[in-house]
Amino acid sequence: MKHRRNTTATAEILNLLSQSKTALSHANIQQSLDGLCNRVTIYRVLDRLTEDGVVHKIVNIDGVVVYAICHTCTSKEHHHNHLHFSCEKCHAVTCLDNIEPSFKLPKKYKVNHVNFTVSGICPLCC
Ligand SMILES: [Zn+2]
Ligand SMILES: [Zn+2]
Ligand SMILES: [Zn+2]
Repeated sequence: MKHRRNTTATAEILNLLSQSKTALSHANIQQSLDGLCNRVTIYRVLDRLTEDGVVHKIVNIDGVVVYAICHTCTSKEHHHNHLHFSCEKCHAVTCLDNIEPSFKLPKKYKVNHVNFTVSGICPLCC
């Protein structure tokens, strides 16, 4: 029974994230699910999806963690270095998958995670 509930939660959360044009926070997801699962379950599902390379975390300008779908990641590693746009007005975070900033680090620095965030005003708020 418990297992089945979790499967539904995963499916629902994935569905929400894949249909959303912007990244969603835990609170957004909880609100959209409308009591279908509790906050701990949502955290667990999101952690699991992140580990599996299905979604990635972004920290928005308010310091809130939001989640977005990955396109080419695997359970072994996340590999994307696209830009995230954080709107100062509506606080939406959007993955700009085609924008990949390039950078070069000094020797002996090993990169594990890349998180580029640019803030400003999104097209909906302009
Ligand atoms: Zn990823
Ligand atoms: Zn906006
Ligand atoms: Zn992204």
